[in-house]
Amino acid sequence: MPKIYLLPKEVAELIAAGEVVERPASVVKELVENSIDAGANNITIEINRGGIAYLRITDNGCGIEHGDVPTAFLRHATSKIKVDADLNEIATLGFRGEALAAISSVSKVEIFTKTKDSELGTHYIIEGGEEKLYEEAGCPDGTTIIIRDIFYNTPARMKFLKKDVSEANAAAAVVDRIALSHPEIAFKFIRDGKQALNTAGDNKIGGTVYSVLGREFAGTLIPVSGERERIAVSGLTCKPVSCKPTRNYQFVFLNGRLVRSGTVTAAAEQAYKNSAMIGKFPGFVLYLTVPFDTVDVNVHPAKTEVRFSDERRIFDAVYSAVKNALTAGDTRPEVKFKEPSFNPFERLKTEEYRQQTIKEPTVAERAYPQKVGLHNNNTLRAPSRPAFVDNYSTVGPHGEKVMPVKSENIPTVQKTEAVIPITPKKEISVDITKDIEDERPEIILIGEAFLTYIIVQMGDSVYMIDKHAAHERILFNELKSKQGVAVQALLTPVTAVLPREEYSAVIQNTDELLKAGFEIEDFGNSTVRILSVPSTLTASDAEALIGELAESLIKNHTAEVEKLDDLYHTVACKAAIKAGSKTSPTEQKKLAERVLYSDDIMYCPHGRPVAFEIKRRELEKQFGRIQ
Ligand code: ADP
Ligand code: MG
Repeated sequence: MPKIYLLPKEVAELIAAGEVVERPASVVKELVENSIDAGANNITIEINRGGIAYLRITDNGCGIEHGDVPTAFLRHATSKIKVDADLNEIATLGFRGEALAAISSVSKVEIFTKTKDSELGTHYIIEGGEEKLYEEAGCPDGTTIIIRDIFYNTPARMKFLKKDVSEANAAAAVVDRIALSHPEIAFKFIRDGKQALNTAGDNKIGGTVYSVLGREFAGTLIPVSGERERIAVSGLTCKPVSCKPTRNYQFVFLNGRLVRSGTVTAAAEQAYKNSAMIGKFPGFVLYLTVPFDTVDVNVHPAKTEVRFSDERRIFDAVYSAVKNALTAGDTRPEVKFKEPSFNPFERLKTEEYRQQTIKEPTVAERAYPQKVGLHNNNTLRAPSRPAFVDNYSTVGPHGEKVMPVKSENIPTVQKTEAVIPITPKKEISVDITKDIEDERPEIILIGEAFLTYIIVQMGDSVYMIDKHAAHERILFNELKSKQGVAVQALLTPVTAVLPREEYSAVIQNTDELLKAGFEIEDFGNSTVRILSVPSTLTASDAEALIGELAESLIKNHTAEVEKLDDLYHTVACKAAIKAGSKTSPTEQKKLAERVLYSDDIMYCPHGRPVAFEIKRRELEKQFGRIQ
């Protein structure tokens, strides 16, 4: 029987140290948290060689009393909890009382510290857990702590360290996160003699995010703010179009501390459902303030993973705050051109150019030459719009009767295009009865590019609308809002033989499919019979679609809504007008009105934008009319 020994104290210390001190970055984290706990509002972090050789933290916090300094380096020495009950109300960052002990057992530590009330401060050196110097010294208020040669006495751990640059990057990431969590503290990070970060400490989240995460990301953010059942959620979240391919831009702070919480991440991401592109993740910096008794922070030694006593409440609070932010702060993506790299009118001053050009037709004149009596013998030839003068469409974009323009007035008209009868395969089921108020700015149809992008003018902007994406979104919203779909019975039911997995998915989900407009019955032998389909679809669509529907049912959905959403997507995508197909001007305009007069059609259900805006100012800048 092997004999049981007690580990020598130093060995036990070293093992315990491993929990806290993994690498220079974890030392930075512990020490900066101590500075924050000490009430500092100015903290400087310096590292050389990834922090392995040298690491210094300077703060202007409360300092440590001369007599307490050696005690601070003992294990379980802390000024932060005294009684057991305090554990339940952990408001400070550090509470284990082991960071300084752990760090000093695996490195060489030197500290200068002084409290405001004492005249002299303390100079203290401890190496590998052994006190080397303890004396009074003149030094500024606050604490400077220097760590040299991490793991000099534990070569096994030393081996696990990565290259200097990786260690430095890890330390930088720690500083970034802490700086984000404390916009009220000014942080400076100096890496191998170069300043790598400098935050203002003015308590402005926007400015801090700008300093830490850069201008590009900061420019995409919209504010979040909400409170639900004593859970306050604030911060910034990115616009759906700016979602990132990774989760690296997600930061969650709980009562001032960076945490990881699957619940918070899931809730925020859920708020982007149907507006962010598949495979992309929102970037956000969220600050949660919750009553201390609803959190258990003591689950992981590194103290980043957090559990809540009621995860559902947290989910709801985060979801609704982010969702509201997206709804309120969302605007259509605007096209901004780069500054023109060369100016075709370079030799002319803007004023000269203006004088030389004849009066151009306005956009309205160009769009409706027949309406404003503009003839095409104008020097700047108005583009012909066969769609409005063809033999087929005699209803103008405003619903008015349009007289066909005499052909001699439109010499460039493409007759062939004009007379192709437009026989849409499906009626676009855009709800035009929707009350459109008069004060809404008029929408002027300019035309359609590549049979794909509808171009309209409204107010002081031109919009380009992806007709498939827009129609798909409209149908999707309608399917979703109706809680059921207009259905048509098929004269001849369609039968389909399906692979085994798809077959069972379909027959197990006939209720969901019915909600999505498909009445389907089990015909046995891997065969199903489709009796009715959504009225926007045809029988042949149904046949083509059944496999896709089955696939979306097979996906691992966590919630019933997701399952239905997926079915709606499939239906909307199939039923929507296709890019490259003919759409009459009337329909183009109807579609544009639906998109621009409502706020709920920003993105297609897959997260692609539906419309882009080009401001008149932006065009004028491009053409050198304004500077
Ligand atoms: P903990 O932070 O869990 O209390 P530490 O080992 O990190 O344990 O620190 C021990 C104690 O040393 C703290 O409780 C605090 O009183 C004191 N201390 C550490 N760093 C600082 C600092 N930068 N300024 C003032 N006091 C400090
Ligand atoms: Mg601490």
